[in-house]
Amino acid sequence: MLVIAATDSSGGAGLTRDVRTLTDFSVDALCVVSAVTAQSDTRVAAVHHVPPDVIRAQISAALETRRVDAIKIGMLGTRATVEIVAECLAAAKGRAVEVPVVLDPVLVSSSGGVLLDAAGRAALLDKLLPLTTLVTPNVPEVAALLGEPVATDEAELIQQGRRLLEFGSRAVLLKGGHATGNEAVDLLLTSGHDIEKINSKRVTGSSRGTGCALASAIAAALAAGESLTAACTLAKRYVLERLLIPAQHESK
Ligand code: PLP
Repeated sequence: MLVIAATDSSGGAGLTRDVRTLTDFSVDALCVVSAVTAQSDTRVAAVHHVPPDVIRAQISAALETRRVDAIKIGMLGTRATVEIVAECLAAAKGRAVEVPVVLDPVLVSSSGGVLLDAAGRAALLDKLLPLTTLVTPNVPEVAALLGEPVATDEAELIQQGRRLLEFGSRAVLLKGGHATGNEAVDLLLTSGHDIEKINSKRVTGSSRGTGCALASAIAAALAAGESLTAACTLAKRYVLERLLIPAQHESK
């Protein structure tokens, strides 16, 4: 699988989390570094954005090395990075590299650091979503991408998911969309306007890099030929068992 993502010096999120996840799925990663972040679990101290030419060169070299069966995109950081990634993906499609693309729209770290600027968000909608199979925002992310207030109920959230779909991705996974008691519900919206609910146990602990792990696990399952619904279900179970339940035990 081709992973386009940033490094995280804390090791909790980003590229290291992606590669660890893919290792759990026995999938090899070809890695493109979009940015280098200096982070701890509580702050983002510095970000170096890799120049667009170097990103293009990494993607070209990765794609000429070996066939990829899926692409996962994580933190991009700036408009220039979003644009070069979109240009490279469009060119790959032109050469008949037709593989699932899973985009985790990384906007801020859980410590509050901005990981994609406003111009980058606009480019993500206009240039990258049309090339994406699945985009995986959580509730605040879908609102921020659309420039709207955070949805207060499931009906509003679904409307936002539909508006995001209009930018051209094949599907949107709204993470943790609706909470009732012990259940956490993700909503999978596809362009046919079907809505599928993916339920799982709600846990109280939190862990860094769950969004990275989920998107990587979905892409790994899609690479293995699973359907979107099966891939999202498998990935959600993986994140719960591997990251969230252990974190809950640690915090006790
Ligand atoms: N840092 C990098 C490099 C990331 O790619 C991501 C998420 O994808 C994050 C931070 C955010 O992770 P967290 O919410 O665990 O801070």
